Amino acid sequence: MAENVTPTRGKPVEDKANCSPFDLGVLFEELRQFSDQRKFELINNVWRPGSTFLFPKTKESGRNRRFNSSWLQDFPWLVYSRYLDGAFCLPCVLFARQCGRNSAKLDKLVKSPLTFWTTAFNRLSNHANGKCSTHNLSVIAMNNFVRVMKQEVVPVDQQLNTILQQQIAKNRTIMASLFKTVLFCGRNNIAFRGSRDEDPSNESLKGNFQALCIFE
Ligand SMILES: [Zn+2]
Repeated sequence: MAENVTPTRGKPVEDKANCSPFDLGVLFEELRQFSDQRKFELINNVWRPGSTFLFPKTKESGRNRRFNSSWLQDFPWLVYSRYLDGAFCLPCVLFARQCGRNSAKLDKLVKSPLTFWTTAFNRLSNHANGKCSTHNLSVIAMNNFVRVMKQEVVPVDQQLNTILQQQIAKNRTIMASLFKTVLFCGRNNIAFRGSRDEDPSNESLKGNFQALCIFE
């Protein structure tokens, strides 16, 4: 069915003053500049219509249609904007650009709101049928992002940094031990080599330096 696009589709249908500051449509143009903290704030507070909210009607092919609130239960990633009378996929809106090769193909629900209600259920089902790799990756990316922001997991770069710091600390301890051993041998006129030199075939005989390192 051809989408009967009216001039208002995708354009504001409600005064900003009547909309929540966390209406996704209100914030949509600014999302690219959002810091991680603001993204996290949006994920936690994005406006969702209450049970008594009356969705506006639009004429589609001569029939009155409106957003169906049950879709919000069917599709947990779905977000409705009162400001635009349109629907978005929250994970894709926030994370699709960084995952998925076919993100360029995504338009409705991601780059612009879905506003044609007659075929909306099919469109929403197709978006979440597991075949859209961008959507799947965006959902995973958003879940990971939330866990990182809640500090349930340490980000990979921080994990690597911690491993590096541990390695540096371990190397410093080893170096300090080697210096102390060298100084000890020097101050006490002890040769680094030891009885091993007299019998190279005997593996159990260590040089003085080696023996002291092990002792330390
Ligand atoms: Zn999506």
